[in-house]
Amino acid sequence: MTYDLIVIGAGPGGYVAAIRGAQLGMTVAIIEKEKTLGGTCLNWGCIPSKALLDSSEHYHQAAHKFKVHGIEVTGLKVNIKQMMARKNDVVSSTTQGIDYLMKKNKIERILGTASFKDANTLLVTNGKTKTEHQAKKIIIATGSDVITLPSVAFDGKRIISSKEALDLTEIPKHLIVIGGGVIGVELGSVYARLGSQVTIIEYADRLLPTMDKELGKSLEKSLKSLGMTFQFNTQVTGAKVVKNKATVTAKIKTGEDIQIEADYVLVAVGRRAYTDGLALDVAGIKADERGRVETNEHFQTNIASVYAIGDVVKGPMLAHKASEEGVACVEYIAGLKTHLNYNTIPGVVYTWPEVASVGQSEEQLKEAGILYKIGKFPFKASGRARASEESEGFAKVLADAKTDEILGIHIIGPRASDMIGEAVVAMEYRASAEDIGSIIHAHPTFTEALKEAALAATDNRPIHI
Ligand code: FAD
Ligand code: NAD
Repeated sequence: MTYDLIVIGAGPGGYVAAIRGAQLGMTVAIIEKEKTLGGTCLNWGCIPSKALLDSSEHYHQAAHKFKVHGIEVTGLKVNIKQMMARKNDVVSSTTQGIDYLMKKNKIERILGTASFKDANTLLVTNGKTKTEHQAKKIIIATGSDVITLPSVAFDGKRIISSKEALDLTEIPKHLIVIGGGVIGVELGSVYARLGSQVTIIEYADRLLPTMDKELGKSLEKSLKSLGMTFQFNTQVTGAKVVKNKATVTAKIKTGEDIQIEADYVLVAVGRRAYTDGLALDVAGIKADERGRVETNEHFQTNIASVYAIGDVVKGPMLAHKASEEGVACVEYIAGLKTHLNYNTIPGVVYTWPEVASVGQSEEQLKEAGILYKIGKFPFKASGRARASEESEGFAKVLADAKTDEILGIHIIGPRASDMIGEAVVAMEYRASAEDIGSIIHAHPTFTEALKEAALAATDNRPIHI
């Protein structure tokens, strides 16, 4: 049969696109090379990392924060095997949920690696078996893979990627993390909370260099108090393993060479679009200089029947971005009018305190020459934060100097991941800072910090500072 739609890759981009296609009455098949559905996010990314972040934060709370609440714990210890087993259970119940959704929506699941035969035909290889499948439309949702450093070869045991770091059977004594981006600070936090000495080596001058500068600076202070150490302005030049030790060599921007020894090295220097084995050239599909499949604003490639979404195309490598592109792409294919606002894609870093952002950073506004106002409110002035003993961080609202329209919201603090939702809604509806300042926020909640920051941005009239 010829399907209306075949999706290649069952990550949050691909499986959501497949479901939306089925909802719109299309006959849909999804091809996935792995035995479990869900892609990077569910198997080796978002879900397992958040499971370990939550478990390790519980331990850290019990070890260091319960006492002040009047709760004394003795004999506390980490059972890393159980922590990993729980994480594996969370992953398998989540990926099985996707199996159920495929069946519920009558989506044909094809196991194997897809490659193009022509613009409407895919060859699927599963071991020695080869099959051919045809579709009117094909969506490439093959995601991304880790970037390797030529001088730092993974051995999967001592020099590892995020995938192995989510599966360690022991707590490292000393973990070096190359890259102070999102994976570096999240997985670095997991092991620092469990007692590892963690050193982050980062090429830029701060953590999370692509986010608003104040967030990275503030997170650095918090992670320092967790015992983490940082080597900024430093480029890793090599690493070698001898027995159970790895030695990393690096060059500081000032010219000095350094060497650091550890028992594990996590390389987290970004991810690349993954199109290996797809044979894009056979169908004449164009990719850019970074290997990302090129598309127009409707996710269509230069070949009319082929579309692409998620990590394999340009834009932030985030699960929710991939899923929303999946929905929008299928709706375009179905002839519906649809809309995706790239300016309101939130970014969240699940450290503690959490970091969350939407819209433009101060650095971006300065570069674009846009005049803006700033309103900031520290969590230490929030009653709820004090009651919870969680008063690190701040909420910051950036608004247009003339119109008061919100241009960006940046939060570091307790439950920032949930608070950013309000900011996204406000920006999606083009709210002014005054709009957030005049909305009633329940008391006592962390969200009052956002209201106060908005009041501060409007005309400098926060109530509690
Ligand atoms: P993927 O999830 O990568 O899925 C692509 C799928 O395609 C894979 O299953 C792959 O096996 C399959 N495939 C590839 N080639 C073929 C082929 N030729 N034939 C058949 N199948 C093929 N994002 C967030 O938003 N929040 C987070 O908290 C978060 N945490 C993360 C933590 C880690 C450690 C990592 C590594 C990533 C994290 N991300 C997070 C990023 C997120 O995982 C990705 O943005 C998201 O998975 C991209 O979805 P996708 O569908 O484009 O690709
Ligand atoms: P990243 O781009 O966030 O960070 C990589 C960091 O490595 C950068 O700060 C960069 O300056 C640094 N770097 C690069 N080369 C270096 C070198 N030779 N020496 C020292 N530092 C070097 O990438 P990541 O942390 O690997 O994450 C990959 C992707 O996965 C990101 O795009 C991210 O969006 C996604 N992700 C998202 C979440 C989340 O949403 N919470 C969590 C994890 C991963």
